[in-house]
Amino acid sequence: MANILWAITGAGTYMRSLPRIFLVFKKLFKFNITVAFSKWGYEVARMYGVLPLLESIASGEYLNELLLEDQGMYYVGRLNLGKYDLVVIAPATSNTVAKMVYGIADTLPTTIFSEAQKSRVTTIVLPVDLPSKDGIIISQAPCYIDRRKCDCLDTIGYCLAAKHCPVNAILVEDRPKIDLSKCIGCEKCINYCINNAIYCWKEIFLYPRKIDLDNINKLKHYENIIIVSNPLQLAITILDVLGRK
Ligand code: SF4
Repeated sequence: MANILWAITGAGTYMRSLPRIFLVFKKLFKFNITVAFSKWGYEVARMYGVLPLLESIASGEYLNELLLEDQGMYYVGRLNLGKYDLVVIAPATSNTVAKMVYGIADTLPTTIFSEAQKSRVTTIVLPVDLPSKDGIIISQAPCYIDRRKCDCLDTIGYCLAAKHCPVNAILVEDRPKIDLSKCIGCEKCINYCINNAIYCWKEIFLYPRKIDLDNINKLKHYENIIIVSNPLQLAITILDVLGRK
């Protein structure tokens, strides 16, 4: 059975789709999957509503733990002991890619990368700043309220969506707004907003920075590194690498 160490950094891009891919791997191929978060990787996973899915993938048994930043550092030595067949860093922010290129290891994912390099463990990286063919980066926004459509406080005097949020993440001040430090991405508010003013996972379009693309190109020249450009390519590459073992 193959053992994968999957490091998640703090980007919304692909955050919704990646856990579904790893869940399929877990169910179909019985891979052991350890999930390691950076501090912001964990926060973004929470606000994008995928923590329950990640908890079902990494259910807590040996080599199937959820590792958080500082506490996770105690387990990085497993790489030196040859416990993992593959490291995956996805989504990888431009900040993480830059640190990996310049040898900075000050987070759980970048320390995992450093130790994987020293132990010759193949590492697949999915950078979030690789553009599609037309030069655009397609990402997804967390839940937000379109204030132009939001008028319940004026008309009925309260926000129905706020009343049904399970974690009280909708702050009702002059206009309701979502507190992303609390939101768990459950989407319940969408159904209760009578003005259809709440959106989750709306596609957003970004332009790549040259420095980020340069860093991704530099990373390609490291040994035992495979850069992939989307979740499908990641899935195929994981199977390819593990199939060769
Ligand atoms: S109800 Fe809306 S604001 Fe509250 S946690 Fe769920 S998605 Fe976030």
